[in-house]
Amino acid sequence: MPTPSLPSLSLSTTSPAEPLETVVAEQTLIVQQSDSPVQAGRPPNIAIIGAGPAGLMAAQVLAKAGYPAQVFDAMPSAGRKFLQAGRGGLNLTHNEAFETFTARYFEAQKHLTPALENFTPTQLRQWAKELGFETFVGSSGKVYPLDKKAAPLLRAWLQQLKRQQTVFQ
Ligand SMILES: Cc1cc2nc3c(=O)[nH]c(=O)nc-3n(C[C@H](O)[C@H](O)[C@H](O)COP(=O)(O)OP(=O)(O)OC[C@H]3O[C@@H](n4cnc5c(N)ncnc54)[C@H](O)[C@@H]3O)c2cc1C
Repeated sequence: MPTPSLPSLSLSTTSPAEPLETVVAEQTLIVQQSDSPVQAGRPPNIAIIGAGPAGLMAAQVLAKAGYPAQVFDAMPSAGRKFLQAGRGGLNLTHNEAFETFTARYFEAQKHLTPALENFTPTQLRQWAKELGFETFVGSSGKVYPLDKKAAPLLRAWLQQLKRQQTVFQ
């Protein structure tokens, strides 16, 4: 089966002498050379450093696109801080007007709004539901999983990722 291309990523080659700023300014995510695995028809080897929620979500997006990654973490198990968050009831997101929600990011609001538009609080609740966890809105507008626990959700998330061929190291 041919390997699908990576249409949503910005691909470019940079010479070693090119200043780092140039690469950052171009928002280059992957440096793809002509003999890259994708072009050679092999699945690319993708490493994600950090098995917190950010790394796990990145792994999920990649797995869904057909690129299961290897996730590395310095700790012996994934999502340790996420588990700590569960002690406070696991406030997943907020149920409020979108502008009010994005204002919670203060000076990062402008920068983060496009990402938040692509993955809204409603979509986050749907994501939890698809993992098997209904959510509810507390009196403060905070959104929690029904059991207010992180461990079952994390377990289900990791199992789903492993079924999708994500490897944890
Ligand atoms: C007590 C507490 C309660 C919280 N409550 C909530 C809440 O209710 N709702 C909420 O949304 N957030 C809450 N948070 C915050 C939430 O836990 C963090 O926002 C979230 O974990 C950040 O995710 P992350 O993936 O960016 O980073 P992290 O969860 O910190 O994950 C980063 C991972 O990378 C690994 N790592 C770092 N450096 C390296 C390296 N060099 N090599 C290999 N691995 C590395 C770390 O071991 C870690 O596993 C809470 C946090 C705490 C501490």
